[in-house]
Amino acid sequence: MNSIVPASAIERRWPEGAVDEIVRLVDVHRRFGETPALDGISLTARRGEILGIIGRSGAGKSTLIRCLNGLERCDSGEILIEGRKISGLSERELQPLRRRIGMIFQHFNLLSAKTVEENVALPLKIAGVARTERLDRAGELLDLVGLADKAMAYPSSLSGGQKQRIGIARALAAGPALLLSDEATSALDPETTRSILALLKDINRKLGLTILLITHEMEVVRGIADRVAVIDAGRIVEEGPVWSVFAEPQSAVTTSLLSGIRPQLPDHMARRLSQTGGTEAIFSVDLAGPAAQGSLLSDLSAALPHSFRLVHGGIDHIQNQPVARFFIAVPTRDAELPARVQQFLTARSARVEGFGYDTDHA
Ligand code: ADP
Repeated sequence: MNSIVPASAIERRWPEGAVDEIVRLVDVHRRFGETPALDGISLTARRGEILGIIGRSGAGKSTLIRCLNGLERCDSGEILIEGRKISGLSERELQPLRRRIGMIFQHFNLLSAKTVEENVALPLKIAGVARTERLDRAGELLDLVGLADKAMAYPSSLSGGQKQRIGIARALAAGPALLLSDEATSALDPETTRSILALLKDINRKLGLTILLITHEMEVVRGIADRVAVIDAGRIVEEGPVWSVFAEPQSAVTTSLLSGIRPQLPDHMARRLSQTGGTEAIFSVDLAGPAAQGSLLSDLSAALPHSFRLVHGGIDHIQNQPVARFFIAVPTRDAELPARVQQFLTARSARVEGFGYDTDHA
């Protein structure tokens, strides 16, 4: 990925002795009537980390964001930003802490009557920074997001991707410790999404900025997150490095969120599977990390000649780790063969799952 952010554009703002945990949630609860929107959330994001928080609609993501930026109070539990508790603070006490959090939104939330430059400088105006200084800073930030030439333009003349770049510049204006991204690419096409994610990653690397990526799209998490936490019905159901969660999803929710981007048995094959018998047994084979670097399928072929047909799948690379998912068809003319193939693969750290039998692969 090419570097987008000039290294000198913004100084790192981490004083000596600054805390390493930018966000910490401990057993956070928030209930609306009978609905537990947050049901005991504990989470940590360390400085410089990109943490993806993914969940389906209604999982509790918006409530989590509102509790984090102090717009909503949690019922119990603790929320700390840079080591300082925000639960229990008055509105006035919250103000300086809110400035430590920059936010970007799905619909950009730019002010249409203000120029791009004024939009970017707005958080500094609110913080009481003098006009010349804040416009200088807005200029630096526009440079940072590659839109220096749009300073005097109005948001309505910009594309979605440009608007989000302005949103990012504005979110960075007050030099936050945390960038909260609330579905920031959900309204963008895939190519623009990739360019915005690349910009976020570059800012993260250059500035050491912690980013919380709140999304319902695994593709976004896959693109730039270091770790991912899966939220469902107000609980974290799974958490870990992105590559390992992709390789070995532990919950049904994660598997379902991954279904669009992990190889799946093609529909036309899935439709004709029988559970009672057929000429081939169909298996999925999942491998990740060092196990996926070897030559598993050729070893299987050598150990048990003509024991399988590769029908679908491939190898992906996530965080520089290979994550492989294959579908194989094993002939059943030797009734023992499917079990022997399964045994061979399992002994080599693959996860193998039987899908049923195929009778017609011609
Ligand atoms: P998400 O952002 O993941 O879609 P939300 O945080 O908006 O999830 O919602 C989590 C749950 O809390 C949902 O069941 C939702 O209906 C409920 N909820 C959220 N906000 C309110 C509210 N202000 N009043 C009542 N119920 C709410």
